[in-house]
Amino acid sequence: MTSDDNFQAWVVREESRPGSENKQFLLNIETRQLDDLPAGDVVVRVSHSSVNYKDALSAQGNPGVTRVFPHTPGIDAVGIVVSDSSGKFNTGDEVIVTGYDLGMNTPGGFGEKIRVPASWLVRKPEALSPLQAMAIGTAGLTAAWCVEKLLHNGVKPAQGPVLVTGASGGVGSVAVNLLADLGFEVHAMSGSEAAQSMLKALGVSQIVSREHLQEGLKKPMLKETWAGAVDCVGGDTLFQVVKSLKYGGSVACCGLVAGPAMANATVFPFILRGVNLLGVDSVNVPLDEKNALWGKLAAEWHPSGLNKLTHVIGPAEVPGTLQSILKGETLGRYVLDWSQAEKP
Ligand code: NDP
Repeated sequence: MTSDDNFQAWVVREESRPGSENKQFLLNIETRQLDDLPAGDVVVRVSHSSVNYKDALSAQGNPGVTRVFPHTPGIDAVGIVVSDSSGKFNTGDEVIVTGYDLGMNTPGGFGEKIRVPASWLVRKPEALSPLQAMAIGTAGLTAAWCVEKLLHNGVKPAQGPVLVTGASGGVGSVAVNLLADLGFEVHAMSGSEAAQSMLKALGVSQIVSREHLQEGLKKPMLKETWAGAVDCVGGDTLFQVVKSLKYGGSVACCGLVAGPAMANATVFPFILRGVNLLGVDSVNVPLDEKNALWGKLAAEWHPSGLNKLTHVIGPAEVPGTLQSILKGETLGRYVLDWSQAEKP
């Protein structure tokens, strides 16, 4: 084995607590070898990854995300092809991976190398730098997919304001910026005082408090307010949004940071206002659709405020950023730049 086969990776290990049945999950940076990676077609040298809510769950040992330990999180990555046994890619090709099983039970972008099926890879559009590609990353792709679904269902700027919930997070901040760039009047539900200036810079015209979205929980309908919405929060908040859509409006539902259950949901908004609840999954979107979306994000949908919502971190900052995500303290997107690693 050559030293080229060695690389650095953040690894979550499951350990028993002495005297307790509970497991604990410890995150440490380790030197790994190519042989530690699963079988697959393409070895990629990762230049950048990004830190997402799902990575924080994986690093905590959340079994809904990761069941096999030791494990390297990182649900997205951009980098350069080292080798490809499928013949689809050449050494040196620049590629992006988001979704599928990356960072869930397949070692992800919090390692300097990954090995994945060729069918997971998108060629990086030339117009995006690797840093921009991961500033968009899984969260931006999800935001774009939400916007695509709203437009497909006929939501237009002339119909009135649109709402983004969880607005200062990764998905929310990109969704805000994409919608504002498309000419929508954007309202943002945010619980973060610190996020207000960023949200305004991204194009938000009105901030709505989390508390406002809890008013009238038991009412079957609320005042018609928004023509469309992107919801990253889930739970009761999502159904409050459904009840507040204008006649025929649509909400794209992609997240669950406040929980999965809509305890107060009824059929009334659907049968009295004809509103649409649109499910969004960006993980298993077929590759040709992912390719098309990346093409748009590199061109006419390139988020104008990407540099305002992006923070670049080195590998040493990964654990702290994961903790901040779980505490709801992050703003926008966090890109892991492996070139900032201290070489052993
Ligand atoms: P972030 O942690 O970056 O952002 C979530 C934001 O939600 C926070 O910044 C905060 O914004 C708000 N928030 C946090 N906790 C609460 C709470 N208890 N109640 C209300 N608002 C809250 O996460 P991401 O943007 O990366 O992901 C958002 C959601 O989307 C997650 O559930 C994630 O799993 C999901 N997701 C789904 C995908 C799919 O394919 N369906 C793909 C990617 C992500 P603020 O302070 O502004 O209120």
